[in-house]
Amino acid sequence: MIHINSTAYGGGVAELLHSLIPLSNALGVETQRLVMTPKDIRFFDVTKRIHNMLQGAEGQLSEEELAIYYGCLDDVADEINNSDLQADTNPNQWLLDELLPLTSAYRTIVCSLESYVPQRLPEGLNVSIAPPAIDPLTAKNAKMPADDAAQVIRSLGIDVSRPLVTQVSRFDVWKDPWGVIDAFRIARQTHPGLQLALLGLSQADDDPEGAAVLESVREHAANDPDIHMFFSPDGLLATNDQMVNALQTHSLVLVQKSTREGFGLTVSEGMWKGKPVIGGNVGGIRLQIVDGESGYLVDSAEEAGNRMAQLLDNPELRAAIGAAAQDRVRQRFLIPRLLHDYLQRYQREQH
Ligand code: UDP
Repeated sequence: MIHINSTAYGGGVAELLHSLIPLSNALGVETQRLVMTPKDIRFFDVTKRIHNMLQGAEGQLSEEELAIYYGCLDDVADEINNSDLQADTNPNQWLLDELLPLTSAYRTIVCSLESYVPQRLPEGLNVSIAPPAIDPLTAKNAKMPADDAAQVIRSLGIDVSRPLVTQVSRFDVWKDPWGVIDAFRIARQTHPGLQLALLGLSQADDDPEGAAVLESVREHAANDPDIHMFFSPDGLLATNDQMVNALQTHSLVLVQKSTREGFGLTVSEGMWKGKPVIGGNVGGIRLQIVDGESGYLVDSAEEAGNRMAQLLDNPELRAAIGAAAQDRVRQRFLIPRLLHDYLQRYQREQH
């Protein structure tokens, strides 16, 4: 649902949308708001006249006034069509047109989400949906005793006697590390001892933007002694998997505040550790987290910070959401399920 109105503040419509939109999202109805910003400011003169006429004022609108009015509506329609308001992932059409013909040599493509299936696929191409999954038996995901986790955390210079929240992610624009810091700062207002860890060791070789993002995030952290950033410019550390596991095991709350995310393995990894994960309300994160049940989906740093504070306040809530999270991963996001999806596909291909 997209609610469109002409002013962010002031008047009854703005007033009610302010409450209606978060409530609607909390119910699981994906709802957005668009405030019109007319290019031609005379639009408001026309709408005021329309308003007055609806109240009973005499007269008619001129051709020019109607043109201003409809012109502005067209602009809004264009804005919606061209923006990411409609779907959270609108791939660049030029790139799709360029690359999709490559698939014509194949019988099947596999997409991780139904909504990622490109709209204009070559004729006759089969589509399979198979979301990613995690391996519960690797060093990263196997059960780590709490004491072992605490020891690793201590060795990272983090105070194990104070609460910790963590995001495990490459330093990447779409992972929104700035937003994680903002959320942490909001939660810290009510939880003064709170610490944050940002683990971005897997700074992939295929990601040339990493260094600039890291630098900018560092500035945003502004030498805060309770924000711990970990990165590894010379490639992955041998201890990487232990560090990921320890942070996910030890943290009270995990964050994956992506603003775009194909799937987000870190979400399932965290959920598998029985932790509440606060995830960006986008892409594959929405498949993993059922909002309010097995984690929280958020649309802003403020929302993330408030959820963080709420979870930090309430150990029972953390335990309940963590248990539901682990169960959801067990049911849907472990690697045997992915293999099963592939096997089914192979079988169908044989016929
Ligand atoms: N990862 C890691 N060390 C880090 C940061 C990330 O091993 O310091 C791992 C993380 O545990 C996950 C993967 O990198 O398994 C990231 O996958 P995801 O789907 O979350 O995001 P991507 O990096 O593919 O966008």
